[in-house]
Amino acid sequence: MVITMKAGATQVQIAGVIKRIEQVKLTPHPIIGEERTVIAVVGDERPFDPTLFDSLPGVESTMNILKPFKLASRDFRKNDSAVTFAAARNDLGPKTLTIGGNGHVGIIAGPCSVESREQIIESAFAVKEAGAMALRGGAYKPRSSPYSFQGHGELGLKWLAEARELTGLAIVTEVMEPGLVPMVCEYADVLQIGARNMQNFALLNAAGESMKPVLLKRGMAATMEELLMAAEYILAKGNYNVILCERGIRTFEKYTRNTLDINAVPVLKSLSHLPVVVDPSHATGKSEYVLATSRAAVAAGADGLIIEVHPDPTQAMSDGAQSLDPTQFAELVRQVRRIAEAVDKTV
Ligand code: PEP
Ligand code: MN
Repeated sequence: MVITMKAGATQVQIAGVIKRIEQVKLTPHPIIGEERTVIAVVGDERPFDPTLFDSLPGVESTMNILKPFKLASRDFRKNDSAVTFAAARNDLGPKTLTIGGNGHVGIIAGPCSVESREQIIESAFAVKEAGAMALRGGAYKPRSSPYSFQGHGELGLKWLAEARELTGLAIVTEVMEPGLVPMVCEYADVLQIGARNMQNFALLNAAGESMKPVLLKRGMAATMEELLMAAEYILAKGNYNVILCERGIRTFEKYTRNTLDINAVPVLKSLSHLPVVVDPSHATGKSEYVLATSRAAVAAGADGLIIEVHPDPTQAMSDGAQSLDPTQFAELVRQVRRIAEAVDKTV
């Protein structure tokens, strides 16, 4: 941190700032200039309130040098992290799968909600056939309206586990409350934390303690720094299995449900070693735009995609308008594979 004193700050004010720096066990290095004094502060400032010194007499401004996130940062780990999660419990597929750090684009696909046993099993076979590595589907749904379908809860999780038994796909499913983390962990291979819960700190802590891989979705009004700070909560519990997910942010634009922040892919990958997955379904809200934005995400360097696919989107109980049918999804995988090749990756 660098603290710039006001021009004309008195010796007493400078001494006061130095004393405060030493009180919090950081080391001051004052640089006395002709017009003003600047104090370089050595040590990890992150545990302290960034405004700690701002209100002291004679201080003009303070500038942090370290990024507020530590474990999520590229400074902490130079190479891309790989997040490995369990998959098939039988011989139907690999026992573990990986997203990130392997030149591979992992595709997670499935319906928005788990609606019935038949629906999730049919979806699982369809997305596997097209080339997905994991099955998504919400058994607990965060809905804007309390009157909308809220999910089948534990029954939905049982159907997801059955779909894994039958196809060998890994299961990605949302958990909405800290108290439900242990139960969802019994069935899921990857815990999804949704956009609306990105800053539910109790949930982040519980997911961190679970040691299960976590797909952390960016809040719809969250900055990338806030997303990385949310990831930091999980990492700080010793759980390094975090996948970041860009799912579109809310802007003034109304032709799409959200605005896909494609910038987030290269920016997050430069700031952090964590894998970055893109969700073009929630980012656009319309099935007709999912293909183009999926291609863009892979071209931009995404480590994976999460796509909503429903056996019959017209009958979906949630997010039908943005869901692809199995034929459209198979075409998406085919096209994305060609884009991946162009950026030296595989699907
Ligand atoms: C979902 O994946 O179905 C979902 C609710 O996503 P988000 O949290 O990004 O809105
Ligand atoms: Mn959805």
